[in-house]
Amino acid sequence: MATLPVYRWRLAPDGYATRRQLRALGLRPGGQDVAAQLERPRRRRGPLVAYLYRVDRAKPVRPMTPARMAALEAAMRARRTCPNCRRDAGYCIPRSLGMCVPCSDLESAA
Ligand SMILES: [Zn+2]
Repeated sequence: MATLPVYRWRLAPDGYATRRQLRALGLRPGGQDVAAQLERPRRRRGPLVAYLYRVDRAKPVRPMTPARMAALEAAMRARRTCPNCRRDAGYCIPRSLGMCVPCSDLESAA
C-alpha cells in the first residue's frame, strides 16, 4: 500500500476511474487491485479517500457467457480470414492489403 500513487482530487490521471465511474461505463474492477488513490483534504478530519482502478484492466459488468465468447471468437476469426484464399492467416487481415500477406505477394508478383 505504501507504493500506491496518491493524487489530489480532480487531478486523477487519464485511464483511472473510481468503482462508481467504472460502473457508469458499464465496467467493474474485475478483480484487479487498487491502482491509485485520490485524497481530498478535509478540515479537522482525515482526508476523504477514493480508490482508483485502471480502466484498461476493468471488465464488462455483464459476465462473459459461452454465447458471447463464441460470437467474439467468430468475429475475430472473420477478421483473420483472408477473403482471397479463405485461410485463417493467424493475424488480422490488414485493411490496406485486403488479403493475407502471401496472397498480396502473389498478387503484386503477377
Ligand atoms: Zn490469402
